[in-house]
Amino acid sequence: MENIKFVVDTMLGDLARWLRIMGYDTVYSDNYNDKQIIEIALLGDRVIITRDKSLYIKARKALAKVILVESIDTREKIAEVAVKAKINISVDPDKSRCPECNGVLEKTNDKNRVKDRVPPQALASYNTFYICTKCSKVYWEGGHWINIRRLIENAKELAKEYKTMYKRRADLLPA
Ligand SMILES: [Zn+2]
Repeated sequence: MENIKFVVDTMLGDLARWLRIMGYDTVYSDNYNDKQIIEIALLGDRVIITRDKSLYIKARKALAKVILVESIDTREKIAEVAVKAKINISVDPDKSRCPECNGVLEKTNDKNRVKDRVPPQALASYNTFYICTKCSKVYWEGGHWINIRRLIENAKELAKEYKTMYKRRADLLPA
């Protein structure tokens, strides 16, 4: 289910960012109400991710696809959603979307295109940059990517454990 799209409930902004980094089309705003979220899900064929039991129940009644997240920790949340939505946990900057706005990123090796928006040190150290086609923010695989990859690897390991744990439960999305 790699073409799966999400709409993430308020309060789960960190999860929205991680899903975008993993390349999943993810709509998020911190001021959507329940009705808006259900509408976005139904109109755009998106899976709702929420921590709110009442939204979960409303969404199911409206026949929207919905995942109820119970984990607190970021790593656990990623693993839980991956297992329940049956998606892969992996990260490839070539496939990432803009963590800020969900825009598609354009890869470039042309430093002239990004020189005004990247600190000189990064401009000198890196050859590949990613420009958000929507908000124009520029990204590169800087030092923090070590942490990103580490967290993704941890979440992946955790997801293996969760798979067994959630197997018998009814809240997996239908295949
Ligand atoms: Zn953007």
